[in-house]
Amino acid sequence: MNPYALVIDGKRVETVAHAEVRNPSTGETVGLMPLATPAQLDLAVQAAARAFKSWSRTSDAERKKACHAVADIIAAHQEELALLLTLEQGKPLNGLGSRFEMGGTLAWTRYTADLTLPVEILQDNNEGRVELHRKPIGVVGSITPWNWPVMIASWHIIPAIRAGNAVVLKPSPQTPLSTIRMIELVNEVLPPGVVNVITGDNALAALMTAHPGIDKMTFTGSVETGRKVMASAAATLKRLTLELGGNDAGIVLADADPKQIAQGLFWGAFINNGQTCSALKRLYVHDSLYDAVCDELAAYARTVTIGDGQDEASILGPIQNEMQFNKVRDLVEDARARGGRILTGGAPMERPGYFYPITLVADVDHGFRLVDEEQFGPALPIIRYADIDEVIERANSLPVGLGGSIWSSNIEKARELAGRLECGIAWVNKHGAIQPNAPHGGIKQSGIGVQFGVEGLKELTVAQTVLS
Ligand code: NAD
Repeated sequence: MNPYALVIDGKRVETVAHAEVRNPSTGETVGLMPLATPAQLDLAVQAAARAFKSWSRTSDAERKKACHAVADIIAAHQEELALLLTLEQGKPLNGLGSRFEMGGTLAWTRYTADLTLPVEILQDNNEGRVELHRKPIGVVGSITPWNWPVMIASWHIIPAIRAGNAVVLKPSPQTPLSTIRMIELVNEVLPPGVVNVITGDNALAALMTAHPGIDKMTFTGSVETGRKVMASAAATLKRLTLELGGNDAGIVLADADPKQIAQGLFWGAFINNGQTCSALKRLYVHDSLYDAVCDELAAYARTVTIGDGQDEASILGPIQNEMQFNKVRDLVEDARARGGRILTGGAPMERPGYFYPITLVADVDHGFRLVDEEQFGPALPIIRYADIDEVIERANSLPVGLGGSIWSSNIEKARELAGRLECGIAWVNKHGAIQPNAPHGGIKQSGIGVQFGVEGLKELTVAQTVLS
């Protein structure tokens, strides 16, 4: 089996050591991930710093063209990348799986390529002229998770290089191969050193966040690791964008139509098997339609085919890794032991791989681990409520605040209630929907800063005010 290599300064760089990357559907080895040394991290940072000098001086038009060239080469290889992604991540080619992720990667890349940050004239009169410029920061370190590895890598890289920065990217050790391959391709159309990829264990990631040659970290991952990134970045006062975990609440009002909302609720919760930062993770349903919503969700769940990601019939695949699989199993067991009512699923599927069925758990409440903790998997707690003010308070009671949703046939009322949710992204009659022009980021302990659109692009710049 040919080992993968790092990409530093536009070249493949071999490592002495490797780690196996396994297919969560079968346990088979997909490929060998290179284990970079600290010295190779230094080389990558130095290459990015060199590339930054000339890349940051290219014209806006050149960088826009380069980002479109990146999209073109990814588009030309999207089926190859989708297959690799399925093999290492587990998500199916079909459904909201790998091909969907590649489509998102391209949509975000092209949209971001077309954004600009023109100089703002804040004053121009007899007393003088004040201009606000947005300048690139320098070397951007990017650390990505295993759930949507390719798309999240594009969210980190494209605004960074569009604004004139150079990047050192470190993907999750669970799903590094599709990212490495994408960066190899991207290097065919970008100058050497503008985007570098290194892979290794979590110790390598920690070295990045402390590295004096990295000026900004863009990090997507768990709250716990986000805290470590922030602490480690303090010594060098790095700029930070942190996109962290959540425990998104969805609230179904008494006037909603259970049949009409079931499919939206289902995919809000179970997209990518629930392994999505802004998936619906706690569902509150008004007492008057609690049973009807439970029945509709369970009926829809029975229509979804779970299987090996390479099988075109599969709509959902396995959980990505053992740790996450054990967590979901434990949270469901805990809920059952405390009197939670399992409507569907509830135990691992009897087959090799980390397969866990869609699991709906009724008659649960705060105080159950499945409600209080981020499950990040295919198990949804459904909580009964009677009073709207009280349920909003409960929805807001956790220290995280990524997304939230209100489900109702009265859109005006739903919008007003959505505004009362303590979260960075609030939806009405949908959950988890994202788009490249809508800033995305968490409040409270779900993160710092936003991605996407002009607001996201600004995070890859520093402001310079010029007074003349
Ligand atoms: P994780 O925090 O375990 O790992 C994320 C990345 O951090 C990996 O690349 C890992 O190697 C690296 N890492 C580990 N230790 C580190 C350290 N000490 N310093 C720096 N980096 C380190 O998260 P995960 O399990 O890969 O992803 C799941 C989590 O990510 C969930 O909590 C999910 O909600 C969150 N997430 C958030 C968003 C968002 O946009 N807000 C998007 C996707 C995932």
